[in-house]
Amino acid sequence: MRSETDLFRRAHEKAALSFPRIDLVASVNTERVLDAFIRHRVSDACFAFGTGYAYGERGRDTLDKLWADVFFAEDALVRVQFVSGTHAIACALRAARSDAQGYLSLVGEPYDTVKPAAPYNFVPEAPDGKADRDAVRAAIIRHKPRAVLIQRSCGYRRRKALSVADIAELVGIVKDIDEDIVTVCDNCYGEFCEESEPCAAGVDMTAGSLIKNPGGGLCVAGGYIAGKKYWVDKAAQALTAPGIGRECGGSLGLGRSLYQGLFLAPHVTAQALKTALFAASLMELLGYEVCPRPEEERYEITQAIKFGRRDILLSFVRAVQHASPVDSFAEPQPWNMPGYDDEVVMAAGTFVQGASIELSCDAPMREPYTAYLQGGLTYESGRLAVWRAAVALEGGAL
Ligand SMILES: *Cc1c(COP(=O)(O)O)cnc(C)c1O
Repeated sequence: MRSETDLFRRAHEKAALSFPRIDLVASVNTERVLDAFIRHRVSDACFAFGTGYAYGERGRDTLDKLWADVFFAEDALVRVQFVSGTHAIACALRAARSDAQGYLSLVGEPYDTVKPAAPYNFVPEAPDGKADRDAVRAAIIRHKPRAVLIQRSCGYRRRKALSVADIAELVGIVKDIDEDIVTVCDNCYGEFCEESEPCAAGVDMTAGSLIKNPGGGLCVAGGYIAGKKYWVDKAAQALTAPGIGRECGGSLGLGRSLYQGLFLAPHVTAQALKTALFAASLMELLGYEVCPRPEEERYEITQAIKFGRRDILLSFVRAVQHASPVDSFAEPQPWNMPGYDDEVVMAAGTFVQGASIELSCDAPMREPYTAYLQGGLTYESGRLAVWRAAVALEGGAL
């Protein structure tokens, strides 16, 4: 079998050096999730659902409370009515009334699809790809923003992901200057990668997508906001209508998968982290520049691989698609996806459309032709796809 070659073994062994750390994080997070299920007395009745307004839907309201506990927050809003992570982040910004007044992005520009949500200024990342603390301080004093956005993952940028400790430091800088500035964290791809979450670092609101980490691969749609009660209530009004807020909008039969997905999420996130590590190890052995490097700490699930050439990038992305369980026969083409600046090519042979907790690989078609690989419901299937993509690049000989 191809997968038994020496190179495959070396890549696995290099990746596996970090597995104990990943397993420990998954264990700690699994225990926190389980304890929240027990504390909130989750039962079969939580999976029933209301119709129409869905007033008092027990499963929905219980999940909000449970989710708040898991994410170290006072309150949470977990809804299939959020069409995506972008929608949840946009609602959080609207709640902070920064959709009209603008906000300050603290570490580089916001993620492509978030850019149109509201006017913004941004602080470029430091040359080493990390937050530029002095520049952040200066920008807050200059712009006097009502809200700031802190994006945990790197997005399509050559910057470092932020750890929860980094986020805490940024929140400290902001609140030292002005207590009243609302801190919003784009938590996409970061959930369950560490033992802590941004609300423990003091952010007012954190938001993300249910078809990424916290959906555990089972959720078919939705998003969440967790944070201080006052702001989560405001966000609920931004989602539905003032006066209705969180009282309406049922789970429409999807509730059980939200619970079950959350229950699996710490483990599935660990599978995605291991897949990313294998990709980093293998591609580095083959001479490609990768970020993060195999031995670096990981604070989110994406793995950047620099190809430097359009044709090589396309071959890799297409080979990932061909090694996917769904639509393996498709040939991804660069296209103008709504919300993105450049054409984007995307391998997403997924059970849920666009679900990037399932193995997916996407790239904006611009220099330096970097692919962003993320997800993998199981380490076995994730690394197999990465391996096959590497073999395809090398003309079938590894
Ligand atoms: C995926 C992502 C988003 C947007 O989420 P969608 O569910 O695709 O709308 C926002 N920010 C970051 C960093 C992301 O990775």
